[in-house]
Amino acid sequence: MTARRVSDLGEFGLIARLREQVTTSARVVEGIGDDAAVLEGPGEGRLLLFACDTIAEGVHFMPDAAPEQIGHKALACNLSDIAAMGGMPRAITVSLGCGAETPVATIDGIWTGMRALAAAFDVDLAGGDTHRSPAGLILSVAIVGEVERELCVRRGGAKAGHFIVVTGGLGGSMLGKHMTFTPRVREGRWLAERRLVSAMIDVSDGLASDLHHVCKASNVGAELFADRVPIAEAARQLAQTGARASTPLGRALYDGEDFELLATVPPELLDEAASGYHATFGEPLYVLGRTTAGPHVTLIHPDGRTQELTASGFDHFG
Ligand code: ADP
Ligand code: MG
Repeated sequence: MTARRVSDLGEFGLIARLREQVTTSARVVEGIGDDAAVLEGPGEGRLLLFACDTIAEGVHFMPDAAPEQIGHKALACNLSDIAAMGGMPRAITVSLGCGAETPVATIDGIWTGMRALAAAFDVDLAGGDTHRSPAGLILSVAIVGEVERELCVRRGGAKAGHFIVVTGGLGGSMLGKHMTFTPRVREGRWLAERRLVSAMIDVSDGLASDLHHVCKASNVGAELFADRVPIAEAARQLAQTGARASTPLGRALYDGEDFELLATVPPELLDEAASGYHATFGEPLYVLGRTTAGPHVTLIHPDGRTQELTASGFDHFG
């Protein structure tokens, strides 16, 4: 018998296994399982958000990626997790792994990209760590943010009958968006401040997978209307030219790294959310489905055909 390997569990099986082995103190409001950990706050009525995300050469960016974009992405995906909690990012530390032969200009470029995004979102670059990496560049960012206790949005807050919304077109981000996206911090904050959303997640693993994460945490199911899923232009392009056979809808459902916000809105707040969002950001808040009593996540085609939607988004070990 061969020993079990990480690929036998998959990324989410592995995380579930780690989670089972942890107990947390009362300081931890929300531990493993949301976009950021939620800790008792620095002040009355406030919560601390704490998360980390790593990007590695060959996995999250190609060796020929522009250094400025690598720096941008390393921070942007962390900001996106704070956005998904309705929070305000405050400070980061950066762990940088590189080889002895890495050009200094590459590191300078990474720093330039990261500093620009940090300035745009008023985040302090407050420390880090440097180490040798035998396997190419690796950037690990830890981030802290803050949110008022009553405004913190978790994955688990959706009730049956809430509308499912997303902040932008999905799919095909590997054609470029995954390196250059602007994290939806302002949008997440806007939605949270007005208490328009009951649950929220950022779409990093893919719509199908991340919707399952919300449904599981909220103990609801979902119906997704196939003709309402906003399909990014890049998804159409990739469906035509990509090596693997795919459709634009398939790409929108299963491609990862869109970093849009996926949220649920109680029905009585939908008009306010959709019209206010459009007036504020000049872009639509796309309504693409509804939550149900569950437990299934179903895709409904325009001709009425239904199909169970599996969670097979991006899995690092899948
Ligand atoms: P996200 O895509 O929002 O960054 P992940 O899918 O990476 O979230 O992780 C899901 C949850 O599991 C998060 O709450 C994260 O903190 C936790 N998690 C992931 N990997 C580990 C790990 N190695 N140890 C502990 N918690 C982890
Ligand atoms: Mg996330």
